[in-house]
Amino acid sequence: MPTNSSSATGETPQPGTLGTAWERRTVRTAVFFAISAGLAAGALAWLLQGSGLPLWMGLVGAAVVGWAIYAGMTRKIRRRRRILAQPFPAEWEAALQGDVVFFRALAPEEQVRFRREVQIFIGEKHITGIKTEVDTRTLVLAAASAVIPIFGFPDWEWDQISEVLIYPGRFDQNFDVEGGQSTLGMVGTGFMNRMMVLSKPDLLQGFRNAEDKRNVGLHEFAHLVDKADGSVDGVPAVGLDRQAIGPWVELVRRKMQEIEDGDSDLNRYALTNEAEFFAVATEYLFERPGLMRRKHPELFAMMQKIFAQDLGGRVAALRQEFKRGPVSFGRNSPCPCGSGLKYKKCCLRKM
Ligand SMILES: [Zn+2]
Ligand SMILES: [Zn+2]
Repeated sequence: MPTNSSSATGETPQPGTLGTAWERRTVRTAVFFAISAGLAAGALAWLLQGSGLPLWMGLVGAAVVGWAIYAGMTRKIRRRRRILAQPFPAEWEAALQGDVVFFRALAPEEQVRFRREVQIFIGEKHITGIKTEVDTRTLVLAAASAVIPIFGFPDWEWDQISEVLIYPGRFDQNFDVEGGQSTLGMVGTGFMNRMMVLSKPDLLQGFRNAEDKRNVGLHEFAHLVDKADGSVDGVPAVGLDRQAIGPWVELVRRKMQEIEDGDSDLNRYALTNEAEFFAVATEYLFERPGLMRRKHPELFAMMQKIFAQDLGGRVAALRQEFKRGPVSFGRNSPCPCGSGLKYKKCCLRKM
């Protein structure tokens, strides 16, 4: 039985990609099923040896069964390593530097991790244009929307989604885009399960205007973070331990009342229900953490805990990056691989 999946394909895994919790989990499960199936097949071969099947043939068959199961179950690991072995495209870097303030405010080593998450998301999920083109910016911003809310969970797996559909504009319940529609994005249910729909102009606008507390990409992925525990109910169990759930529900009720009373700068859409409150508050948190800390300190503290991110510590960097405005990425910029060299002296050469 192969013990090292990378030696089978002859790839050199990138440093740091080995041994993530997800990889270890996957390998453990694969080994368990491969051995179980191999043993079962071996036992069957043993029983059948009287009926004309030579024992050695049965045992080889059992080994093949075990090996095939292992190879099948670890396929995703090998695919992910291939994805991460690719250089980070310069156009993607340009999109991040140009539009994603959150990314620019990260420390260099965190940026390296952010890029890897973007690469994995784009490499493993479908991002499909419906009657519209998915250009580089759209592609990268859809991925950034997925990475920002889970950046505090290094072992996060986006199992809740397999495809993002990009629509040419806002739509309605029937996914018509003919005009007058008002939905900017949605998380699919039923036959649309594991899918998300985003209006392209609103996705781009969400990042372009990084200080209006509105970002539909973040909003929809916040729903998926909420959904990680099985239900989109505004109680994201992922970041809340048992004892924190009661106080969270109570806090949400209070903050919704403030909106109701006209005494809040949270978007009124948050009144729809607790799930929408959480998604709206997420947009606010990631776009204006400093403002939320000032105006809604309790909510800010809870939200930081939920997302396991120290946004308070990043307020100054975010403000500075926001003031600096979009950075253009070019031959003389630091290389996106994180080497510390100029792009032209590093990965541009290797392409
Ligand atoms: Zn929503
Ligand atoms: Zn490089």
